[in-house]
Amino acid sequence: MKTPVYMDNHATTPVDPEVVQAMLPYFTEQFGNPASRQHRFGWVTEEAVEQSRTSVADIIGADPAEIVFTSGATESNNLAIKGLAGFLKPKGNHIVTVGTEHKSVLDSCKRLEQNGYVIEYLPTDEFGVVDPEAVKRSIKPSTILVSVMIANNEIGTIQDIAAIGGMCREHGVLLHTDVSQAIGKIPVHVGVLHADLMSFTAHKIYGPKGIGALYVRRSSPRIRLLPQMDGGGHEGGMRSGTLNVPGIVGFGKALEIARSRMASESARLAAQRDRMWNAFSARLDEVFLNGHPVRRLPNNLNVSFGHVDDSALMMNMKDIAVSTGSACSTGNPEPSHVLRALRLPADRLHSSLRFGLGRFTTDEDVEFTIERVVESVKRLREYSAVTH
Ligand SMILES: *Cc1c(COP(=O)(O)O)cnc(C)c1O
Repeated sequence: MKTPVYMDNHATTPVDPEVVQAMLPYFTEQFGNPASRQHRFGWVTEEAVEQSRTSVADIIGADPAEIVFTSGATESNNLAIKGLAGFLKPKGNHIVTVGTEHKSVLDSCKRLEQNGYVIEYLPTDEFGVVDPEAVKRSIKPSTILVSVMIANNEIGTIQDIAAIGGMCREHGVLLHTDVSQAIGKIPVHVGVLHADLMSFTAHKIYGPKGIGALYVRRSSPRIRLLPQMDGGGHEGGMRSGTLNVPGIVGFGKALEIARSRMASESARLAAQRDRMWNAFSARLDEVFLNGHPVRRLPNNLNVSFGHVDDSALMMNMKDIAVSTGSACSTGNPEPSHVLRALRLPADRLHSSLRFGLGRFTTDEDVEFTIERVVESVKRLREYSAVTH
């Protein structure tokens, strides 16, 4: 077994060796610019890009022409929200989202707020679930967009996007959903979800970093966006810049693998995840599951260990790579905005660990993690009992 054990697959994933193999020729022999229409170098890479575009479209039930390649989900979320707001400015200025969204959604909304848009942040219940009825009640004549992620990257909670999307459709409001964590784990289909805009990224599904996509509905209704990157008019004018061909090829391959293994992989991950939770709750007092007990990603376990400081716990387990609820993306020790949005008791905000299992997590990794966590929590609790 290799240590440290990687239990942080919501932050990023290793690139699948099959994906690397598919990408390699596009760094060397097949280096052409797909926008070069006059020669073979361009034709070859254009064909590879279009094949990947079809893979992306197929997994969500979209048409390839509805897929715009971007640098990842951060850019896709920015393009979806700011691009739509910019285009629909004459129509309305009200946008509805949720406090538990990814920062790239919340901060895009915050930017718009500075420019005269009105953002409404819907509350969730203690499990992070948004009530579709609350979405309905928030819709006003000036509402142009609802943005709700399908699965949360910290607590794994899965929203009823189909119901939310149906509500939006009924009221003529567009729906954007970030599916970065859900793709390859649970079924995601633009028709079933009534989604008009959908963000993804390759590096959460064993593809390379720096490549992602935005689905932009082209019919009933046709969505238009104000580009956030101007230039040569690539990607139907929605995102200029020479395409990242090796990245796009890797993204397509990663999606094909994800699609073919989804059922078996999700079942295996859920069993490993449940094994961890059952061991923690059997062997330790005062452990609390954050997020929804049932409606959650198969690979996510977010747990608060009562009376234990999460940073101290992590420091005690250097051979396990996990993330804490209070050390967020930029390393500041504020409690996570997601856990805060659930309005949990203060102790639970500062004592949480997020375990993210993945394709390469072994049963040995799981057993090792269980032993280390149980031992470290017990040691820290004994220590604080002695010193208090
Ligand atoms: C990782 C992640 C992002 C950001 O994706 P990048 O490709 O790293 O920009 C956005 N949303 C969710 C839900 C994520 O998990």
